[in-house]
Amino acid sequence: MHKLILALIKTLLFFISFSLLANQYHEDIIKIGVLAYRGKDKAMSRWQATADYLSTQLQGYTFKIVPLNLPEFNLAVEKQLLSFTLTNPGHYVLLESKYGISRIVTMQTRVNEKIRTRFGAVIFTRADNNEIHTLNDLKGKSFMAVSRKAFGGFQMSWLELAKHHIDPFSDFSEMKFNGFPQDKIALAVYNKKVDAATVRSETLLRMVDEGIFNLHDFRILNENKIPSSNIPLSTEIYPEWPFSKNRQTPRALAKKVAQALLSMPENHPAAQASRTAGWTVPLDYSPVHELMRSLKIEPYEVLQNTSIQDIIKKYFAWIIATFLFVIFLITINAYITRTNRRLKITEKQLRDEINERKSSQAELSNYKDSLERRVESRTIELKNANIALKRSQKALHDLVDITIETGINHKEKLLRLLETGREYYQLPVAILSSLASDKDRICTISSDQATNIEQIGPLNSACAQRIIEQKDQALDIPDLTLINDKISACGRANLKNYLATAVFVAGKAHCILEFAGTQKRNDTYTQWDHNLLQVMAQWIGSEIEKQYALDEKQQHQAELYRVSRMNVMGEMAANLAHELNQPLTATCNYSSVCLRLLEKDNYDKEKLLSGLRKTIESASLAANIIRQLRDFLQKGDNNIQKIQLNDLVNKLIELISSDINRNKVHLNLKLEKNLQTIYANRIQIEQVILNFIRNAIDAMKNTNPSSRELSIMTQQHNDHIRLSVMDNGSGIDTADKSQLFDAFYTTKEDGMGMGLSICRSIIEAHEGLINMEPVLPQGSCFYFELKSDSSEDI
Ligand code: ADP
Repeated sequence: MHKLILALIKTLLFFISFSLLANQYHEDIIKIGVLAYRGKDKAMSRWQATADYLSTQLQGYTFKIVPLNLPEFNLAVEKQLLSFTLTNPGHYVLLESKYGISRIVTMQTRVNEKIRTRFGAVIFTRADNNEIHTLNDLKGKSFMAVSRKAFGGFQMSWLELAKHHIDPFSDFSEMKFNGFPQDKIALAVYNKKVDAATVRSETLLRMVDEGIFNLHDFRILNENKIPSSNIPLSTEIYPEWPFSKNRQTPRALAKKVAQALLSMPENHPAAQASRTAGWTVPLDYSPVHELMRSLKIEPYEVLQNTSIQDIIKKYFAWIIATFLFVIFLITINAYITRTNRRLKITEKQLRDEINERKSSQAELSNYKDSLERRVESRTIELKNANIALKRSQKALHDLVDITIETGINHKEKLLRLLETGREYYQLPVAILSSLASDKDRICTISSDQATNIEQIGPLNSACAQRIIEQKDQALDIPDLTLINDKISACGRANLKNYLATAVFVAGKAHCILEFAGTQKRNDTYTQWDHNLLQVMAQWIGSEIEKQYALDEKQQHQAELYRVSRMNVMGEMAANLAHELNQPLTATCNYSSVCLRLLEKDNYDKEKLLSGLRKTIESASLAANIIRQLRDFLQKGDNNIQKIQLNDLVNKLIELISSDINRNKVHLNLKLEKNLQTIYANRIQIEQVILNFIRNAIDAMKNTNPSSRELSIMTQQHNDHIRLSVMDNGSGIDTADKSQLFDAFYTTKEDGMGMGLSICRSIIEAHEGLINMEPVLPQGSCFYFELKSDSSEDI
């Protein structure tokens, strides 16, 4: 409560004195504000002489000293109540930056009889204080200064301490501000009331001069001696107090005041009264500014709050907001960038797609064009192919017709084929020429009468060789004139184009199928045409092969018949003996009669001639019989070989299959698999089986064609093999059975009755058994048995 009342009273007094000051302001009176740091009275007594001096020097002006403490001073300057100010450098710098006052002269002082314009401060402790030798030793110690705002009395040393990283407000055990006068502070150290302190250097020196204590009683810390000076210093030196004009003070008046002060002698009473040594030109106060800035005090106190923590603390909300905003902006930016990038990618993709589509469209239209062209050309090709197909179809039809036509012989078939080929290729000449020689040429056809066929071919050997080597490739020469003469054998016949291929029979080149024309062609024939040529060549090959097989078969049959005749001969020899006997006997008889007639003189000539004729007839008859017999016996055959009876039966069936089919007989083959071989005359055994089969077919003539059954069986009976031929034909009376195998027994109109007789002879000659058994309900079964060879299984 007391403190509150005291503060109110102080404020009241401040305003009262301030209003007094304001009232005192008069135009003729030039007010000089003086910082009354040691009290207003002392300030008045110190500077009144200077005011008087100025009043004297400047006629018409009365200068008045206005002593002010710091708050009053600042307010007076702000309210422009003063014309001039006289204050310490620190305060000056503040007023300069805040209110625009400007120095016009700087105070000089006299220290140790020397004029000085700068001053410093001293940091000191008692000389006997062994704990404090450096500034750093001050940590944890008590310290005393004038006031926080005293430039010489604290701030100069504060900067030094700060330079040594000492914060007087936290590092000292106690920081005491004792106010003016500074003498009390020096005494406090001297009297050990405090560990250390700071004062202006002059203060300490003055007190030493006054004999209050000795300079040796103290230890100066951070001593910073100025050369050629024995003033104790712990700090930098700074310019002395400036005398300044205020912003509104007329320049002319300021100039006159400056001139007056500069012209004040050092020893002028006014100078002595103010304890100065006159005035000098204004000095540079930037070091003071620098000090204020370093300590971040007025007018740079704003810097106090510029540490990062302070800034963060002060602007935390803003920082957060800004941070969030920045994050938001970054996010938006990132989003926009990403969207842009995506858009770019999408755009690029779209462009690519468009380009791709364009190129696809172009490709498509090209493709369409080419497709159309291809379709057109393909259509033409197909039409041509269709035409070619029809032609080849016709040619193939013709081929089939030729193949199935039965009424024509082998050579006629080949000629028909050549004609078909000539028509197909639309060429006048078709030749099938043998490779052996010109004479062996199979056939030659030409529809061009002008062409001398005899002069065409045969191919020379080089050309023929080339065709054979090409095998199933055609030799197609559209223009023979361009071909080496060695190849072209057709040149002679004035032929201009040529087409040929080799015909192979049983894997060997057999002949060459050739076509030729009298006009050269533009191009070779198509593959299709070549293929047809190959078909024709193969057809010819197979026809020739068939013909060969037929020839062989006929030869085989002829052989069969021959052997048959041979065997018949044996039987016939006996049977015909009496027939030979008769003509021979007749010949002998007729000859004897003729002899007897001749022995008579008057023989009957007619009888004789008749007897001789009969003799000749009988002899001729015998000779004929003998000749016939010789024909039968032309070849002797005793070719015994190893035979697999099943194989033999199969081949025989092939031989007479046409007979069987023609008579609409259904054939059953029951051939035992593991049949042993026999040693026999193959042709003779075939003849026996053939005879059985023929008789069986004959016997089924009156049987319904749909039920004609012929069975051929082979069976292994121990060391014998039985072959049976069974039919469901007319059958045989048991009464006739005994004669069956006799010669000349026959029930057929055109039969000889020799077949079974010969069969018996053959089988008996092979030491086998031949017989017949009736089949129920109808038919008969003829069989023979031969000894088999068990030494080797087939
Ligand atoms: P040909 O066949 O010339 O008559 P064969 O000696 O071969 O002479 O036959 C003699 C006779 O035996 C035949 O005329 C026939 O009457 C009779 N014969 C032969 N085989 C059969 C058979 N399978 N069925 C009925 N009769 C047969």
